[in-house]
Amino acid sequence: MECVICKNGNTFEGFTTVTLEQNNSVVVIKEVPAYICNNCGHSYLSEELSTKVLAIAQETVRKGIEIEVSRFNVAS
Ligand SMILES: [Zn+2]
Repeated sequence: MECVICKNGNTFEGFTTVTLEQNNSVVVIKEVPAYICNNCGHSYLSEELSTKVLAIAQETVRKGIEIEVSRFNVAS
């Protein structure tokens, strides 16, 4: 797929680190499967995975954890 950001690269399957900030919480999720642009490095998450990542982040915010670094588990 062509990168929509730089329009000059192609995406390949890889892993990315997602950082989300909400209220006072920072959630870092490592090793999220994504499509990554070989030119600008922008990463694209599938809709399914974005939903999962957001759910993880919301859970962290709900618990009132200020910072959480976790590894993405595809099976969960
Ligand atoms: Zn790009």
